[in-house]
Parts: sequence; structure tokens; C-alpha cells
Amino acid sequence: MPTEKAFYDKPGARELDACVLRIEARDEGKVALALDSTIFYPDGGGQPCDTGTIAGLPVRSVIERGGEVLHLLDSGVAELGAAGIMPGATVRCVVDLARRTDHAEQHTAQHLLSSILLRTMGATTLSFHLGERYSSIDIDVPPFDRDDAYAVEDEVLRVIGDDYRVITHLCPPGDASRFPLRKEPSVEEGVLRVVEIDGIEYSACCGTHVASTRAIGSFRITRVEKYKAGCRVQYVAGGRAFGDYRRLAAIVRDTAATAGVPEDDLPGSVAAYRDRIKLAERALETARDAVASSSAAALDASSPAGAIVFADAADFDSASRLGRALAKRGRVVVVACRADLKAVICAPAPVAPGASPVDEVFGPLVARHGGKGGGGKAFFQAAFTDESSLDLFVAAARFA
Ligand SMILES: [Zn+2]
Repeated sequence: MPTEKAFYDKPGARELDACVLRIEARDEGKVALALDSTIFYPDGGGQPCDTGTIAGLPVRSVIERGGEVLHLLDSGVAELGAAGIMPGATVRCVVDLARRTDHAEQHTAQHLLSSILLRTMGATTLSFHLGERYSSIDIDVPPFDRDDAYAVEDEVLRVIGDDYRVITHLCPPGDASRFPLRKEPSVEEGVLRVVEIDGIEYSACCGTHVASTRAIGSFRITRVEKYKAGCRVQYVAGGRAFGDYRRLAAIVRDTAATAGVPEDDLPGSVAAYRDRIKLAERALETARDAVASSSAAALDASSPAGAIVFADAADFDSASRLGRALAKRGRVVVVACRADLKAVICAPAPVAPGASPVDEVFGPLVARHGGKGGGGKAFFQAAFTDESSLDLFVAAARFA
């Protein structure tokens, strides 16, 4: 049986007494309630459902099925009795009005945004999503730049400031042609619901809205990015917009404090940091190669000619550099790195005719000592699960 949707008639109502018509068992021992009337908006049209309580029990989500609104509780059958919930009982429904208001602000702002994008850019809105932090619409035009976004924001803010009324028309589906609707309506029920923003925007819509545009308060486009063949416009409206501004302002303030520069100097300062890091990384690379080359020269001189060279390194990166530097000097080398439980085996590349590729020689030896390895003919690396396995591998490698 269809549920009376009191959230349309009493959008500001926080409480409603309703009659329990049916209790339905759901997954994980939870239940859902069907009532004769509800102030809970169900999931739909890109707008998430309301939450709140019924007879003091939390409402986890609300869905609509063939005109019937189902309230999914976080409770099982056992808890219903104590709360006085049974078919025929009257229960007090309390909706989270802050969440409802926030959703109405985001949703009404979406009507304005879609209508202004259509008017100024010829963009059709393809879908709408109301998210936890930001909301977004997908439109059928390419991404636009920051100045265009500012112009759209200014126009949305002008309409908000001029306080246009938001009017709902309920009429038979055949009356759709009476309104200059932005989009062809899909009427699932016997009633067409047209939401008008006083003469400037008409949409068939089932969501909840503010009473007039000034209630939205604020609006900002937060991102425009390519999406499929068009773009995605992300925005924030209402009380959220100020909360988002505060969050971003704190990030800027804290980052400037960490960088030790005035907030206005942050972009230049971050770019300068990035350039200095790149230079420092390049210098570090050169220094590490120089250390590896110098160690390789000393090891080459002190190791018997023709024999495998054994060495230790503090970390895997140093082990790889030392191994490659020795291979360049024509040596086959095993470098153990105990801190990382790894070993690197290198040989001159390309492998000389008659010489054995290191993966063929050392691969089976690594596996025999519980290690895992990979690589090629002139470079092989192995990882072990403990230090004694690594030591046993190195000892066995002396006889390879
Ligand atoms: Zn709407």
C-alpha cells in the first residue's frame, strides 16, 4: 500500500506520529517498517534518504518500493516489543532535520546550477550526486576554466540573493507540456511533481527543497573535471559551503605556518620547494653513485681476481648501486643487505660467452634457502624471511 509522503506537505516538520502497517524481516536479523505516513525522504533522484528515529530506535536507511516507503531499522524483532512497535501501533517518528536541511540546500542549489549552465553554456545535466562532502552534476559539455566557473557561481549567488520562491506543482502527467521543463520527465506515479524556481527554472523532481533560494545562503564550484564525453561539476552549497571554506582556510593557514611564509606566498614557496627537492634528489643520486663507485674500486682491488666478490650494504638501494658498480668493473658480486633481508647478485652485462647467467646459478640457491627472487641474466635480487636464511644463502653462494 502506498505510503503518504508527509515530508512534501510538512518539509520543516521534525516529528510525526504514524501508524505501523507492516513489519518486514530484513538481512542480519534487522527489520523494516511500513507506516501509513512518513516524514522520512527515501533514497532517490540522487538525494540520499533522511535518517532519525522511530519510537526511539535509529532508522538506518529509507527506501521506496512501488510507492511504499520502507524504514530500515538497526534493530531486530526483539527490540520492537520494548519500543511498542507492532502492526496497528502509533509510533513517534523523528527526522534528523539538520541532515534534511543540508540535503534540501544541496538539491535546490543543483536546480539553480543546472538551469544556469543550460542557459549560459547550453549544457544539459545528465546526472546528479549528493555526496558526503561535495555534490556534483555531470553535464554534456567539455570542462570550462576558472573564470567561467566564477561567472556561473556569481549567477547562482545572484539568484540566491534575489530570494526566488520555490514552488511545487502537483498535476496529472499529461500536464507536463504546461511547463518549460529542463528535462523530459519520467513519471512513475500518477502525479507529476514539478518544482519551479519562480519563473526561471522548472524541473520534474521528487527531492526535498528549501522554501526560497535565499535559504541556500552560499554556493561555490569546487572542481570542474573531464568526465566521459563531458565534464563533472563539483560544488558545495548552504551551511556546508562555509564549513568547507573554514576547512580549506585552516589547511592554508597551517601549511603557511609549516613553510614559514605568509599565506599569499604559498604558491611560489611550494614551487620553490619542489625545485629545491628535485635538485637535492639529483645531488643525492650523484653522491650515492660516487660512494658506490669508490667502494667498488676498493673491493675490486682487495678481492682475488676472477673470484666472486662478497659485500654488505646498509640498504637495498646501496646494495644495488654497489652491485652494478662492481659488475661494470667486470666482477660477479653478491651484496647482502641485512637490514632489508635482501641480497643482490650482479654480473657484467651482457653475459660473456661461456659465463653462466646469475639467475640460473643463484635462483635455485635462493629458493633452496627459503628466499624469493627474480631478475635476469646479469641482475638478480632475492628476499629472505629471516637473517639466518640470508646468511646461509651467502655462505652457500661462496661455493657457487
Ligand atoms: Zn529537486
